[in-house]
Amino acid sequence: MTTENTTPVDTTAVDATPVANGFAVLGLAPELLAAVADLGFTQPTTVQEQCIGKAMSRTEGFIDLMVSSQTGSGKTAAFLLPVLNTLLQQQAAAEAADKAAYEEALARGEAPAKKARKNPLNPRSFKAAVPGALIVCPTRELAQQVANDAIDLVQHCKGLRIANVVGGMPYQMQIARLQNADLVVATPGRLLDLQRSGQIKLDQVQFLVVDEADRMLDLGFAEDLAEIHQLTANRHQTMMFSATFAPRIQALASRVMRKPQHIQIDSPQEAHANIKQVLFWADDARHKRAMLDHWLRDKSINQAIVFASTQIECDGLAEDLQQEGFDAVALHGALSQGLRNRRLMALRRGQVQILVATDVAARGIDVPTITHVFNYGLPMKSEDYTHRIGRTGRAGRDGLAVTFAEFRDRRKIGDIEAYSKQLFNAEVIPGLEPKQRFAPTSAPRSGFGGKPARPGERRNGNGGGGFGRNTGFGAKSFGPREGGRGGFGGPREGGFGDRGRPAR
Ligand code: AMP
Repeated sequence: MTTENTTPVDTTAVDATPVANGFAVLGLAPELLAAVADLGFTQPTTVQEQCIGKAMSRTEGFIDLMVSSQTGSGKTAAFLLPVLNTLLQQQAAAEAADKAAYEEALARGEAPAKKARKNPLNPRSFKAAVPGALIVCPTRELAQQVANDAIDLVQHCKGLRIANVVGGMPYQMQIARLQNADLVVATPGRLLDLQRSGQIKLDQVQFLVVDEADRMLDLGFAEDLAEIHQLTANRHQTMMFSATFAPRIQALASRVMRKPQHIQIDSPQEAHANIKQVLFWADDARHKRAMLDHWLRDKSINQAIVFASTQIECDGLAEDLQQEGFDAVALHGALSQGLRNRRLMALRRGQVQILVATDVAARGIDVPTITHVFNYGLPMKSEDYTHRIGRTGRAGRDGLAVTFAEFRDRRKIGDIEAYSKQLFNAEVIPGLEPKQRFAPTSAPRSGFGGKPARPGERRNGNGGGGFGRNTGFGAKSFGPREGGRGGFGGPREGGFGDRGRPAR
C-alpha cells in the first residue's frame, strides 16, 4: 500500500528565485540597475562588460577609453551608464553637503536662504547651462537616439537632467530644455553655436564622449572636435567610440586623449553574425528596380530600409514606390528636422513600412522591427555598408541585408568584401536572372583574397561562369513569390500625414 505524501510542495519557491541581473556586479547605483532591469537588459553585452567597470575605476584618476565597437553592440549604454553613475554619486555628495550646511545654519539659529524660483517659460530667467557630461554625435538622429537612451536610463534618478542639442530645432525651445542639464547630447554645430552665444558653458564638463568618431571625421567635424576639446580642457575623462581604429582615428585620439586604453570588441563580420547578407547582380538600373519591387512584396518583411546613394535618388525612389502602392517615405539630410522626426516616429510606431534613406539620415536608427535592409544605391564607403546593415538584426533579432549591384559596381562590392572580410553570397531570383554575360576586364584591386567576386561567380568557385550564373557555394534561388502589388497588404492607413507629399 502506498501512502500519499501530503507534504505541501512549495511550487513558488523556484519561480520566485530572482534572476541575477548581470549588471549588479558592475558597481552601478540601484537607480541605474532598476532602469536597466526595466529595459529588460539582464546581462551586459561584451562592450558593456568591458567598458563600464574601466570607465568608473579611478585608481589614478579616470582612464581615457578608445573603443572599437559596432552599432547594435550595446555601446550607447556602455558609455552612458558609467557617466550617469558618476554624476549620480556627485549629486548625492553635493546634496549631503547642502543638507549638512542647512542643518549647521539651523543649529546656529540662522534662517536658511530661500532658493529663488525660476519661471521655466520666461527666457529672462534662463541661465547658461553648465553640464558635467557631454556626448557628441555626428548626426541629429544618433544624438536624439542617444538622448532617448539616456532619458530611459535616468528614469529612477531624481534630478539628473538630460538635454539634447541638435540643429534644426527652434533655438528658444532648445535653450529652455538646456536649463540645469547635467548631461548634454549634441551634434557639434549647434553645440558650438549655443556655446558662442553664451547659452552653454563647457568648462565644467568632466566627461566627454565622442560617439562614432569615424563618422565625425567623414562629415568634416575635425575642427569642431578640436574646438570642443579646447573648451572642455578641464575634463577628467574622454571616451571615444568608433567602428574602426583606422590611422586617422588613432591620430584624432592622440590629439584629444591621454594614454587611452584600447578596447576592441568585434570585427565588422563578427558583429553581424545574426544578419544574413545576400547579393543580386543586375544588368542595369531597370533590372535592379524590378528585383527591388519583387523583394518589397516579400511577406516576411515587417519593416525595411531601402538605401539610396543620393538625396535625389532617395526622393525619386520613395515617390516611385508610393506610386506603385508601397508604403514608403524618404528620409535624408535635406528634409526639415521636423519632417525627419515625424517620419522616424512613424517608422518607430509601425505606421510606415518602408523607409528610403541616405546613409547620413539613417545612421543610428534603432528600430527592432526592421527585418530587411536593401542596398539599392551602393554606399560611397565600405564602412557605411556595415552601418547600413546594422539597422536590421537589432536587439538580438535576425535580419536580412540584400544588396543589388550592377556589374559596373563590382569594384565597390570587392571593397565591401575586403572591409568586412566576408564574401557575399550571390543569388538569383527565378525569372529575374541577369542576362548580361560577364565581360572580362582588368580585375579591380581588392584588399581581400585578390580579385573581387565576379557576377555569378564565387570567389572560391571553380571557373568563370556567365554573368548571373550561380555557381558558388551557398547559392540559392528564391522561388517566385505570390501576390501582386502590395503583397504585404498594400499601403497602410492613418497616422502619418506626410506620406505622399513630395519630399522637400
Ligand atoms: P547600441 O549598440 O547602443 O545602438 O544598442 C543596440 C540595441 O541593443 C538597443 O536597442 C539597446 O536597447 C539594446 N541593448 C543594449 N544593451 C543591452 C543589453 N545588455 N541587453 C539587451 N539589449 C541591449
